[in-house]
Amino acid sequence: MDKEEFIKIFKNAGSYTDKIEGIGRFCDRWCERCAFTDRCTNYQLGVDLKLDENPDDWPQQVSMMMDATLSILQEIIEEEGIDLSEAMAQEADEGRNEEETYTLVNDTVCVKDAKEYAERVKEWLEAFENKDALAMEAYYSNAAVQNSLDVIRWYQYLIFVKLSVAVNIKMREDEDEVYDPAFIEADGFAKVALVAIDSSLGAWNTLFSIHPKEEDSILDMLVRLQRLQREVEKEFPHARRFIRPGLDE
Ligand code: SF4
Repeated sequence: MDKEEFIKIFKNAGSYTDKIEGIGRFCDRWCERCAFTDRCTNYQLGVDLKLDENPDDWPQQVSMMMDATLSILQEIIEEEGIDLSEAMAQEADEGRNEEETYTLVNDTVCVKDAKEYAERVKEWLEAFENKDALAMEAYYSNAAVQNSLDVIRWYQYLIFVKLSVAVNIKMREDEDEVYDPAFIEADGFAKVALVAIDSSLGAWNTLFSIHPKEEDSILDMLVRLQRLQREVEKEFPHARRFIRPGLDE
């Protein structure tokens, strides 16, 4: 696909019918298990752009997409007569550079613990998968185990990523002193993280009941996740009430 074709498909996304506005913004990106693929612009766009095809072309494709997206943005800026210089000057005035923001976000307790959880899960999965072949065959022939492992893997890094975004946005909102409990974006991303934590807790509980031999290591994961859940609820006390378009309606 070339740049012109990408721009054409991208612009056509606005004409998809029956879509749910914003559903892809606060979801877990697990399209394979999503009941709303036919009502999601992100998904439809991925299909039209044939994103699953030719993974070897990805670096080239991503670079072309970024180039095309910049062209589209430029077009919008010109059409709307937007003056970016003011916004850029304001950014510069705020004085906090990207590195400082990155450090502040990563030093937030819930983000730190989410990262630590992802690392511990990686180690746990590696150790689990290195068991002898017969034990592994028995594990994987159990649908509940297979499903629990899929859930744990899917959310392992997603919790950290969504919390990083939520904390980053919250920091900006706190600075601007803008707070609208009815619709605050940071709460939306924190809600995605909380739903992922809930599902992961369910998955670890299932493994706990099936594999008593793994009791200690699974208990450690459960304790970590429960602590993380409390931290997120404390940092984002309104997140549970956030209504994700389509998914919570
Ligand atoms: S809403 Fe569903 S289909 Fe759309 S991106 Fe999210 S998981 Fe995929």
